[in-house]
Amino acid sequence: MAHVTEARSGPVVIESATPPICNSCGRVIPPHERGVKFLCPNCGAVIIWRCRKCRVLAKPYRCPNCGFEGP
Ligand SMILES: [Zn+2]
Ligand SMILES: [Zn+2]
Repeated sequence: MAHVTEARSGPVVIESATPPICNSCGRVIPPHERGVKFLCPNCGAVIIWRCRKCRVLAKPYRCPNCGFEGP
């Protein structure tokens, strides 16, 4: 039985071939959905993605690099 363990800690490397994953809910953002991406306002080293739903609901996000949390 294969079990996939998700490692959410540590720096996140986003490759161009990898679909963006919402930083708030962890859901893959489909290409047709208008997700937003922005650099972490605190450290500026990580691109943070948010899906449309989390953006509308103003869900908090957390920077995987510096731990900054914000709306
Ligand atoms: Zn989301
Ligand atoms: Zn950061």
